[in-house]
Amino acid sequence: MRIAVFSDIHGNAEALDVVLNSGRERGVEKWICLGDIVGYGADPSECITRVRELAATVVRGNHDAATTGMMSLNYFNVDARKAAEWTAEQLSTAERQYLVSLPLVHERSGAYFVHAEPLNPKQWGYVTDLWSAEDALKAIAANFCFVGHSHIPFICSLRDGNPAYCTSSCVQLRPRTRYLANVGSVGQPRDGDWRSCFAIWDQEQSTLELVRCTYDLARTQQKIRDAGLPESLAARLATGY
Ligand code: ZN
Repeated sequence: MRIAVFSDIHGNAEALDVVLNSGRERGVEKWICLGDIVGYGADPSECITRVRELAATVVRGNHDAATTGMMSLNYFNVDARKAAEWTAEQLSTAERQYLVSLPLVHERSGAYFVHAEPLNPKQWGYVTDLWSAEDALKAIAANFCFVGHSHIPFICSLRDGNPAYCTSSCVQLRPRTRYLANVGSVGQPRDGDWRSCFAIWDQEQSTLELVRCTYDLARTQQKIRDAGLPESLAARLATGY
């Protein structure tokens, strides 16, 4: 089975489209979304529709929670708050109900899927380095942990209690080793590379790969400007921060 794990779409339909096409071309059979379908971008409804059409397994992100009134906007910066308020106005009742219905975590076949981190998924902490990755793996029984939220992709392993970064973008999985993948962001990468990011877990080949795709950046930026969303949300997409 070839599984695509993707996260943090943030209302960027152009980015989501190229990720879906790339996954299909690579023979992806199952889609798992780690949340933040909406927030920041100008196409929240479009992105919800496409994710639902995939029959993907989906967990809830903090922006999905914030735009549906499930959490306070006080922790958001000004632009994120403006975007969340704008997004809330765009969503239909059915779309809102869909976001509210999403679970916080999903666990299946030895793998654990969560937007932020497994120890306290509702606190929206970040997995950004080996130490937080080790804490995340220690908090669960599954051998594989997939997270998003930071928009900064990386894969690391834990073997005999020793955590280590996997330096290849396509990791050959080893037995008796546990793995954590931060799958980065489809719609607003923040690792200095503006291209969309997602992961493909090939269970037959025993590989875990981070895939990057270019998308129509100018079109996405124009939509953000046309919607009257903060200019910084358009500008940052080009820098990948
Ligand atoms: Zn996010």
